[in-house]
Amino acid sequence: MTMPLMKPPRKNPVLRTQQMNLPPWARGRVALGMTAAAAEGRFELQVCQDCQAVQYPPREACHRCLSARLKWRAQGGEGTLLAQTTLHHSNDLFFRERLPWRLALVQLDAGPTLIVHLHDEVQQAGQRVRVGARLDRAGQAVLIGFPWEGTEHMADDRMLREMTCDPKFRKVLVTDGKTAVGQAVVKALVKAGADIVWVGHAEPWKKLPGLDDITALKAVTLVPLDLSNERSVTELAGEIGGKVDIVVNTAEVHRTFGIGARRGTDAARAEMEINYFGLLRLAQAFGPALRGRAADGVTHATAWVNLLSIFALSNFPAHGTFSASKAAALSLAQCLRAEMRPAGIRVVNVFPGPVDDDWNQNLPPPKLAPAALASAVVAALKDGVEDVYPGDVAQEWLERWRDNPKVLERELAAGGSQ
Ligand SMILES: [Zn+2]
Repeated sequence: MTMPLMKPPRKNPVLRTQQMNLPPWARGRVALGMTAAAAEGRFELQVCQDCQAVQYPPREACHRCLSARLKWRAQGGEGTLLAQTTLHHSNDLFFRERLPWRLALVQLDAGPTLIVHLHDEVQQAGQRVRVGARLDRAGQAVLIGFPWEGTEHMADDRMLREMTCDPKFRKVLVTDGKTAVGQAVVKALVKAGADIVWVGHAEPWKKLPGLDDITALKAVTLVPLDLSNERSVTELAGEIGGKVDIVVNTAEVHRTFGIGARRGTDAARAEMEINYFGLLRLAQAFGPALRGRAADGVTHATAWVNLLSIFALSNFPAHGTFSASKAAALSLAQCLRAEMRPAGIRVVNVFPGPVDDDWNQNLPPPKLAPAALASAVVAALKDGVEDVYPGDVAQEWLERWRDNPKVLERELAAGGSQ
């Protein structure tokens, strides 16, 4: 049984913050398929299309029949623990700072034998385990041996806390508490055990629906934050920047115009100002402090979440300028991810389909409920994934986009559905 994590004591301000050392990150190109799947929360191995052999480690050709026709396929991960050991010494700085560390050999029911990081609830050889893939602090896929049936606090496992971005006991900034989505995210974070949730509010003097509900929560503090104003962002960063462990950027402006439906660039500028420049201001102000605290004990700074849109992948002409602003934000988020990775901070991009809010009133269902979107955000943090496509519409668009982006573009031009 995993002992529940205790809330860490207040940090001694005199102590020097420890520098982040990443786990070994070099992988061959062929192994990146496993990382690409783990980034979306899946455990995939290569499967030979000729002899059906499942193989690990990843190779250029099938280990049994030498066929080069290998496909990455999702695995259930069921297996049996063959042997386990506990490291008390490591030449690698990352592991040396985190000893003791458990490793094991697992035989998958599907065939291959794997070396995994082992959850503390798995003890005896012969025990059944479930293997899952997670991203480690360097952003590379690693395999973890999970207990067959975990107990209540299994997410508090010390090794797992190093791989995931669980909000429990962490201090979170949600940049916009005005919207239904922002409020749902705040509630979900509080429910997941966040220590403090700072909630940004551009116009704190305004009474808005739902705000009283979240400010009544003990963990929540309303803070003035206007992403369109550089001074507002840097002032807040000066005040709380050194304490934030997770940033969740829910601020967005959403108008429903294409190009021809409106004269002038005001609406498009307003969208860019928050959806693109807002993210840039936020990243410049909060990024450095977050990077500096990535090795700060069990509640180290850990993640940056961007609320994007599935329209970032392919323009939805009815919401044309909004789509363009989200595409710009996606590109910037990729830059942020590259800059955050060396510090071990995960950048999570969330691509919902149309959300059930004021701006999508005219779109037909299915639409994503704000609460469902919020649970997807929290689940992504708990599992430490990088890209999330919550809801049926987002999943379907993603599939169509992967299949053929040009066909999807045509279909969207014709009104959205096929
Ligand atoms: Zn084969």
